[in-house]
Amino acid sequence: MKHSSARESREEVRRWIDLVYPPRCAVCERFLQPGEARGICPGCRDGLKEAGPPLCPCCGVPFEAGTGENRLCERCLRERPAYEAARSLFVYEGAALEAVHRFKYGGKTRLAKIFGPRLAGLARTWLPPDVQPLVVPVPLHLRRLRERGFNQSLLLARHVAAQPGCALDFLALRRNRYTPPQAALGRDERRGNVQAAFEVETPAAVQDRDILLVDDVSTTGSTLDACSRALLRAGARRIFGLTLARAPAP
Ligand SMILES: [Zn+2]
Ligand SMILES: [Zn+2]
Repeated sequence: MKHSSARESREEVRRWIDLVYPPRCAVCERFLQPGEARGICPGCRDGLKEAGPPLCPCCGVPFEAGTGENRLCERCLRERPAYEAARSLFVYEGAALEAVHRFKYGGKTRLAKIFGPRLAGLARTWLPPDVQPLVVPVPLHLRRLRERGFNQSLLLARHVAAQPGCALDFLALRRNRYTPPQAALGRDERRGNVQAAFEVETPAAVQDRDILLVDDVSTTGSTLDACSRALLRAGARRIFGLTLARAPAP
């Protein structure tokens, strides 16, 4: 009895809050209709395309065609990345692109609460059962962290690391160079841009550990690759990559 009355009064408070601050979609900011689930409106939810198969089993890039078997992409055929494998939740287009922009540049940290648990779910189903990873968010340069006020990858990584068998380390890896935004660069420039940008601060923390790198977006996989190289040099065992969104294969 006591239980249900506490719940009722919580719901009552929520109804009042909703009257004063009607809930909006975290992506497009449209007002949500009464009875609609909180978080994301149905339109934006439909606009999120999962980065499912067919995809490259190594870097996780989804193929546009949407049919056929998983197969190695051209890039991985030519040169395998330093990480074992990577996966993403969404294709980086449409509502996912909008969501990431709001998350990163609009300071909508609430999106981590919405997408973090889903990213954790993907990690749980995808990672081999023997992997008990140290979850490492891709770091921002200190200057960018000061500008933005938060590291979007860390906000996501916290949810992933909250699972049994996982641990979080957001200090092990450091970004040394203040690099221009990746979106402004071509593929080769992008790669040159991130190589040697990362350094492991505390090698003992990653020694012989399986690492799960977490980032918001992966465009070509070059950031994950550069982080992986630094971690392997420092003695890490295997590296896996997990991102919220991934650009489709060109
Ligand atoms: Zn929306
Ligand atoms: Zn690939």
